[in-house]
Amino acid sequence: MSIRPVIPRTNLTELNRQGFAALVAELGEPAYRADQLHGWVFKRGARSIDEMSNLPKRMRAALTERGYSVGRVELGQLRESIDGTRKLAVRLDDGAVVETVLIPMGQGRFSQCVSSQVGCALDCKFCYTGTLGLSRHLTPGEIVDQVLLARQLVPDDVRISHIVYMGMGEPLHNFDGVVESIRMLTDPEGLGFSPRKITVSTSGLVPKIAALGEAVPVNLAISLNASSDAVRDRIMPINKRYPIETLVEAIDAYPIHSRGKMTMEYVLLGGVNDSDDDAHRLARVLARVRHKVRVNLIPWNPFQGPGYDRPADGRVRAFQSILERRRFTVTVRTTKGLDIDAACGQLGERPAS
Ligand code: SF4
Repeated sequence: MSIRPVIPRTNLTELNRQGFAALVAELGEPAYRADQLHGWVFKRGARSIDEMSNLPKRMRAALTERGYSVGRVELGQLRESIDGTRKLAVRLDDGAVVETVLIPMGQGRFSQCVSSQVGCALDCKFCYTGTLGLSRHLTPGEIVDQVLLARQLVPDDVRISHIVYMGMGEPLHNFDGVVESIRMLTDPEGLGFSPRKITVSTSGLVPKIAALGEAVPVNLAISLNASSDAVRDRIMPINKRYPIETLVEAIDAYPIHSRGKMTMEYVLLGGVNDSDDDAHRLARVLARVRHKVRVNLIPWNPFQGPGYDRPADGRVRAFQSILERRRFTVTVRTTKGLDIDAACGQLGERPAS
């Protein structure tokens, strides 16, 4: 099976502005209908052509006759955590399932974590998705439709304010699909997200980091997770191709677009990468980029298999304070959605038991 998905030409959720303009011209309709059609799909989140009530009947009939449809994913299962996190399993048209998570941020806002691939090829040892292997990339429409679908599930007074590409998959491995999806999400006439509210998280595909910075002005998060190549080689095989020093050079060169800093994700694995020595070494490794990064510590979220331990709170605090004494900005990720396997590194359909 190819990892490149087939992008159906007759699904409106896969079209960009030029695509809508060409379609409307082909139907012999006036150009302004392209904006209306685009608005129905990406602003109002229509799930059928029939509900596009301000389009003339003849146009809706012509779209239906030509096999056009709207919407790329269907809701499979919805689970809600005791902390308000919601995990949506969404089914794609080839039957594959990916997951997307709505994380409450307070004040009526959610951050949505979207998937960019079915499974993942990178095999990070602490991540459940990595155990699944890669089936294929998602199309731009399949990524954006996770957001369109989720918007329908949150009450009207609640807003999805941030998008993070931290779900299933390595976003930069699906570079073209992810960049196109970001262009769709940030279209002011569509969903209208500010690029500053979008974060792409990578395990460190170094050549694509610079390319992302040139393509779209979004925030970057790097999944670092070790302070030495010896440990990173073991827990993240990608490090053998792009070791820590190469990664730090790429971070140094990445443009900071927003007021914020770039995030260095660091999953703490008890007894593996969470010692005082690790914290001191991490401070040395990141010293030259200290002004442009924030370190986000993530105590490991368990799943059955790899045999890691989640470090105790005291260990996490000790690690944090060493970095803070070296004048780093450090946050500790509040674990959300642990009870429904929706926390960081836990995404992916479990086999039926
Ligand atoms: S952490 Fe990210 S890149 Fe690594 S295996 Fe999991 S999904 Fe893939």
